[in-house]
Amino acid sequence: TSAPRPRVRFAPSPTGFLHVGGARTALFNWLYAKKFDGDFLLRIEDTDRQRSTDESTRAIFEGLEWLGLSWDEDVVYQGANVDRHYADAHRLLETGAAYRDFTSPAVTEQLRAEAEARGEAFRFDRATADLSEAETAERLARNEPYAIRFRVPDGTTEWDDLVHDRIAFPNKDIEDFIILRSNGTPVYNLAVVSDDIAMRVTLVLRGDDHISNTPKQILLYEALGATVPQFGHVPMIHGTDGKKLSKRHGATAVGDYQHEGLLPQAMLNFLALLGWSTGDDTEVMSLDELVEKFRLEGLQKKASIFDTKKLEWM
Ligand code: GLU
Repeated sequence: TSAPRPRVRFAPSPTGFLHVGGARTALFNWLYAKKFDGDFLLRIEDTDRQRSTDESTRAIFEGLEWLGLSWDEDVVYQGANVDRHYADAHRLLETGAAYRDFTSPAVTEQLRAEAEARGEAFRFDRATADLSEAETAERLARNEPYAIRFRVPDGTTEWDDLVHDRIAFPNKDIEDFIILRSNGTPVYNLAVVSDDIAMRVTLVLRGDDHISNTPKQILLYEALGATVPQFGHVPMIHGTDGKKLSKRHGATAVGDYQHEGLLPQAMLNFLALLGWSTGDDTEVMSLDELVEKFRLEGLQKKASIFDTKKLEWM
């Protein structure tokens, strides 16, 4: 049987403008899809109703369109899928891969704060949260609210990262994490996995600020009986001083460059060459040339340095 057609996605949260880091993630996904004859999907992660705005969603569309990074299929809005997220959480509850936690978030946070004040790392205690069937039935009868927590199994969770090679996390370092809050809203890791399964994503290529989420997500795929996709984590972008990229280092919104008249081609080359060397002195490349030269193995593992002096205003 032949390998499935690659499917990648860009999954921004519409909580601000399209950032150069996000645009680079989108570009790498797009290049990967074009290079391997796959699909590039767009998912707007708007589950955080308070922080998501239509204006930001429009800025994402506008930025991608300006760069020529067209997406396949209809845009997926994560907020439209909460019924499925909810059902998946309950499915995990039924199979025993998750359990109800009746502890109020306020109490958990207080214990965490107390541990921190003592200079200790807080360890969530499954033994006190995971109640017997009888106790659970009693609390359900009293209509007590509960969160759903994933029961992290023993062992090690590892994957062959397409950028960083092998990454392994001992499961004992991952606490039983909440997948559905007591108010019924899904937590990021569950929503992402549920949607990536539904969208048949074969490679998750995103910023390496998500590396610590990946073992949790792999455990969720396994518990849901789904095929685990490949993962690749692209290094963060830092300023010339080595610090996390911020406004101090120059404009970080793609829209700022667009409105100042930069050519999209210059932006694409600048983004592509952040942390990626083609190994030759190629002139400004077209999207077709970028597709041809793109190799995940060519990405460096360290943070990329954002130096606007390298941006050529043509
Ligand atoms: N919405 C997440 C973010 O903007 C990305 C999720 C992902 O790529 O898995 O950081």
